[in-house]
Amino acid sequence: MGQPRVVIIGAGFGGLACAKKLAGQPVDVLLLDANNYHLFTPLLYQVASSLLNPSDIARPVRSIFGGTQNVRFRQAHVTGIDFDRKRVRTAKGIDVDYDYLVVAAGSTTNFFGIEGVEERALGLKDLSEALELRNHILRCLEAASLMTPEEAEPWLTFVVVGGGPTGVEYAGALSELIHGVLPDEYPELAGHPIRVVLVEALPQVLPPFPEDLGREAHTKLERRGITVLTGLRVSAVTPEEVELSDGSTIRSHTLVWAAGVRPNDLAGAIDVSRSRSGRVEVDAYLRVPSVPGVFAIGDIASFVQDGKEVPMLSAPAMQEGRSVAENILRSIAGLPLKPFHYRDKGSMATIGKNAAVAQLGPLHLKGFIGWVTWLIVHLYYIIGFRNRLAVLLGWGWNYVRSDRPVRIITRARERGAGPPAGRPLVTARGQGRGRGAEP
Ligand SMILES: Cc1cc2nc3c(=O)[nH]c(=O)nc-3n(C[C@H](O)[C@H](O)[C@H](O)COP(=O)(O)OP(=O)(O)OC[C@H]3O[C@@H](n4cnc5c(N)ncnc54)[C@H](O)[C@@H]3O)c2cc1C
Repeated sequence: MGQPRVVIIGAGFGGLACAKKLAGQPVDVLLLDANNYHLFTPLLYQVASSLLNPSDIARPVRSIFGGTQNVRFRQAHVTGIDFDRKRVRTAKGIDVDYDYLVVAAGSTTNFFGIEGVEERALGLKDLSEALELRNHILRCLEAASLMTPEEAEPWLTFVVVGGGPTGVEYAGALSELIHGVLPDEYPELAGHPIRVVLVEALPQVLPPFPEDLGREAHTKLERRGITVLTGLRVSAVTPEEVELSDGSTIRSHTLVWAAGVRPNDLAGAIDVSRSRSGRVEVDAYLRVPSVPGVFAIGDIASFVQDGKEVPMLSAPAMQEGRSVAENILRSIAGLPLKPFHYRDKGSMATIGKNAAVAQLGPLHLKGFIGWVTWLIVHLYYIIGFRNRLAVLLGWGWNYVRSDRPVRIITRARERGAGPPAGRPLVTARGQGRGRGAEP
């Protein structure tokens, strides 16, 4: 009899941590992902704001496990799981059998069913969305450069929805791109009003952070020319404008949606119990109750600690991945499983050059110190020396030259060369498109 087969669905933060811990152990691991790469999402906004290249923040999964005998990778979009037969179904009908299964398929953008948003907003959840957003912003500038200030207004008004870390970081980066770099290169836009507006439904930006850090971020954003609107929701979107909950409207052709995520659709496609937030319910060992051999981790899993679901963040996903790997090995060895405990090491967000906020236990860091801490932590967690070096080089270049160099408009022919016209707000969700080839 061969070694126990462990199938992991998803090579994101959770799945990868699990596979790494199982590398070299007496198990046969098969890692499945719809994409052939692991994506470092915390820096996705830097791709969308022309600072980094996609390959700086993504690494082919096969290259991560190149020399490892017992971990294999297959690019596959999982469509379902047959728990009775212990079999995973993939999009092109190739089934994979398992003894242990780890579901780590992450999350997807949540549009909350708001009128027009799903069709018109630009997301920031995967690489294809980040590239589409980058292209869109650059094309707006090109389009506006041919117009009068009055005509150009909606092209030069960029609305970012969601004042969490992703929205704050993107708004800051977009402002740096627009105000710092482009005036030199777009003399035609001199005198044109250019606006970045950040909309947050709650009374403060960075709601999960302590109040003082939220206030700090708010002030820093405003100092960088960003209009911050708190306590307001987007109620509808048309091709011409964004409507807010107080009845006001903003003329804009750009709505960046960073307002939240929901569990991956796979959670709804399998027959398991789910929490109110739609995440797959798990027990103290991250097992899916009543389904032998199946674990769920990361954004898709609802692990409750101290009466609350642990947040959808990379740290819990990685810790859960390592814990499940350990418990699979313990189960094979006939040892009792260890319950999972999430250790919250803190959270951080950057507003731009020399400005970030970080909460590390009792420490609240701001300004330059917060920013350096943010840089070091992110650099540490990027996978692969080449990626680390490329990111460091990109940051160094930007720090010294205030330059966001990746300002090429790719795929322009696909959407029609020349300025976007007619239906300006483009859909960039691309959840399906970005998944790449399937077996
Ligand atoms: C823009 C952005 C910025 C973020 N910044 C931070 C941050 O600064 N700090 C932080 O802690 N967290 C951050 N997060 C959250 C963090 O990315 C997630 O919490 C984390 O990725 C969850 O890990 P996971 O393993 O559950 O899912 P993921 O890392 O999302 O991995 C899921 C994997 O499953 C694959 N997959 C999905 N469906 C299928 C399927 N049907 N078949 C096969 N494969 C599938 C996906 O391709 C993906 O590779 C950010 C998220 C985003 C979108």
